[in-house]
Amino acid sequence: MNPVIYLDNNATTQIAPEVFDSMVPWLKGGYGNPSSVYRLGREAQSSIEEARARVSTLAGCTSEEILFTSCGTESINTAILSALAVDPDKKHIVTSAVEHSATIKLCEYLARRGYEITWLPVDASGRLDLERLEGAIREDTAIVSLLWANNETGVLFPVNEIAAIAQKKKTLLHIDAVQAFGKLPLSLEGAGIHYVSFSGHKLYAPKGVGGLYVSRRVKFTPLLRGSQENARRGGTQNVASIVGFGRAAELALPHLGDPAILSLRDSLESHLVSTVGGCSVNGDPVHRLPNTTNISFDGIESEGALILLDEQGICCSAGSACTSGSVNPSHVLKAMGLSNDKARASLRFSLGRFTTAEEIEKARVAIPRVIAKLRDLSPSGIPVMAA
Ligand code: PLP
Repeated sequence: MNPVIYLDNNATTQIAPEVFDSMVPWLKGGYGNPSSVYRLGREAQSSIEEARARVSTLAGCTSEEILFTSCGTESINTAILSALAVDPDKKHIVTSAVEHSATIKLCEYLARRGYEITWLPVDASGRLDLERLEGAIREDTAIVSLLWANNETGVLFPVNEIAAIAQKKKTLLHIDAVQAFGKLPLSLEGAGIHYVSFSGHKLYAPKGVGGLYVSRRVKFTPLLRGSQENARRGGTQNVASIVGFGRAAELALPHLGDPAILSLRDSLESHLVSTVGGCSVNGDPVHRLPNTTNISFDGIESEGALILLDEQGICCSAGSACTSGSVNPSHVLKAMGLSNDKARASLRFSLGRFTTAEEIEKARVAIPRVIAKLRDLSPSGIPVMAA
């Protein structure tokens, strides 16, 4: 079997060896409940506080402003629902058409419960119209919730400008920083952002641990009621994963804006564009995560490409999702104005800290071959599967 070339780091990342090592003691001897008063419990609690300090250093805020959750999705739900509780008369939410499903599904649910949602559009390169954002915020807007980095295209929304608009209009602001955290520098102190969501498994910590920044200047209502996390998030903490998240945050610091990843990404992208032909890069080429490229290859179906690339040991994502047997084009690419065919023909490659030049060299050879094969196979690009 071919070794895996993992180019799907926006989906999840492997656990860094140092992160794994940091977790082991808390899965073995350190099993105390952090709320217990005896030494075993106190040690677990202090390991959580150390992790909180490390995550807050990466976020550029104080430790007290970080609470641990089970995932990015929980953080997003907590932030938005907390903002709605601040002033129950405010029934309007501003978000965008290209958010992660965690935000979209929650807002769709809230729409069914009587809230009004403004879905801001994006332009052909996936960027937000800031004047439109400002115009959308009303007296009864409870919260603006927007991505920092798009998980499918890597396109960055200008969070500083967004925060300035939210401040001017005196509205609460939540930023979904799940993809950007640990990749780009962040300084939340004085940034004018009220809530920010993070997730451990995007920065080499395990799945099942997340973080939420809650500005000390904002009122907060918990989603899960209980006594832990200063009564802000009930539930006995996942100590080992929180410790791992803290270690991952510490390890991320020297890698922020890593030029090595950017140069590997660019070398893959420019090679594919110049050799494959009939392909186009989706999303703003400049305001983009350094690790992500999303490319439409004319004449193929991405689902078929995933199968053939998997045979070559290459893991990446499709710009479409298979739901109940039918392939749905990505809502992000559709919002950018791509046709169904172009959206269904797109692949996302997302590199990570452990991606090597040798792997990219192999991908530069294998991907054009797979695309050529698919184009030969059938007009739809769907390969004939062996029984
Ligand atoms: N927001 C963005 C932008 C994401 O990419 C993801 C995960 O892919 C999430 C939120 C949800 O995070 P989690 O998987 O930790 O629930």
